[in-house]
Amino acid sequence: MALTSKPRGTNDLIPGEIELWQQLEEKIRVVCHAYGYQELRTPMFEHTELFQRGIGDATDIVEKEMYTFLDRGERSITLRPEGTAPLVRAYIENNLGSGALPVKLYYYGPMFRYERPQAGRYRQFTQFGCEALGSSDPLLDVEAIALPLELYKTCGLSGFEVELNSIGCPACRSSYREKLVQFFEPHSDSLCRSCRDRLHRNPMRLLDCKVESCQRIIEDAPVITEHLCGDCADHFAQVRQYLDELQIPYNLNPRLVRGFDYYTRTVFEVVSSELGSQNAIGGGGRYDGLVEEVGGKPTPAVGYAVGVDRLLLALKSQNKLQVDSTGPSAYLVHFGGNTKLKAARVAHLLRGKGLWVELDHMDRSVKAQMKQANRLDSKYVLVFGEEELRNNQVVVKNMQDGAEEKVALDDMGQLTKILGVCAK
Ligand code: AMP
Repeated sequence: MALTSKPRGTNDLIPGEIELWQQLEEKIRVVCHAYGYQELRTPMFEHTELFQRGIGDATDIVEKEMYTFLDRGERSITLRPEGTAPLVRAYIENNLGSGALPVKLYYYGPMFRYERPQAGRYRQFTQFGCEALGSSDPLLDVEAIALPLELYKTCGLSGFEVELNSIGCPACRSSYREKLVQFFEPHSDSLCRSCRDRLHRNPMRLLDCKVESCQRIIEDAPVITEHLCGDCADHFAQVRQYLDELQIPYNLNPRLVRGFDYYTRTVFEVVSSELGSQNAIGGGGRYDGLVEEVGGKPTPAVGYAVGVDRLLLALKSQNKLQVDSTGPSAYLVHFGGNTKLKAARVAHLLRGKGLWVELDHMDRSVKAQMKQANRLDSKYVLVFGEEELRNNQVVVKNMQDGAEEKVALDDMGQLTKILGVCAK
């Protein structure tokens, strides 16, 4: 293993690329503000049990994909594979539900899953998620869809579709589970190993299997929407009514179950036509039992997670993101010695006013410094010549029109005004 190669499935976000991420992060803040969601930051790692209990023992994530290790105190620790269980843990631990409900929170940050890397699927990836806790209002399910759609739209993304389903509550699921077991049992020999293992433990997980031979069998499996109890069917009808009212188009997909055990009732996923096999750019659903499962009071909740890496891939393939490449406000050209001392002082003062100011650190000739100022696309060049310094002045050259003027160095107000920013 070369020391210069990063671990498989990870990415460096280098200058030129990171600006796109920063633009997107800004848009996320703006959209969350409009919907009244506040940011919550949790640790990158949690006690393993939180995910085992929260996501479910018989899920792909818990069985195959977690980065789990014992720390030096012999505690089992897991790098977070998703953001909802940690957010719920923090909600309970910080007693965030003690005030007015619902509590609307969002998170943004890296997640870790030991998956087989490919385009759009990484071992470290970034998710943005919004979660509303404390209410079972179907309108909040719709908000959890509308908010990320607003983000996709603000970014200029097109060609995405909402897939929608309801997977009911524990009450309506118990009879459905029996039907599933009855359906799958005769096919048991043709199922993959993990489906065979899960058949009696957690038959709904079979519906999420990506193995092709299992997929063929799943096609004919009974669908949950035909087994919803009255309350769940009513909730689902209201979700669709609100979606129609907000003119948010969706496809009903009775096969959509999502890869986590915590979901109840509404589940949804957004797929982009721009991406290949890894085409989901986000997904979520209602999880009315999770807060209690993690140790809090019974609290209905609903949320959504956006795959930020994939969203950026989709936006790039539609040419929807451009790096805003403005150069420095000023490049300070000096002749070494005293002139460099003075330039250093002026750079320090101008930077203190928030201006992007550059100067030479490579002992370049004056000509080479001018070239560098051009290369950086600096708006102004300030020339610190010996003669000007004797008069406590500097030559300010506008690089757009070539105009030059001498400015007194003890008048920083005038300098900053010329460079385009009001003094602090
Ligand atoms: P999930 O938490 O599995 O529902 O994922 C929510 C979204 O995160 C997905 O729709 C993807 O856009 C993104 N995502 C999930 N896993 C990965 C991964 N391994 N690499 C990149 N993006 C991912």
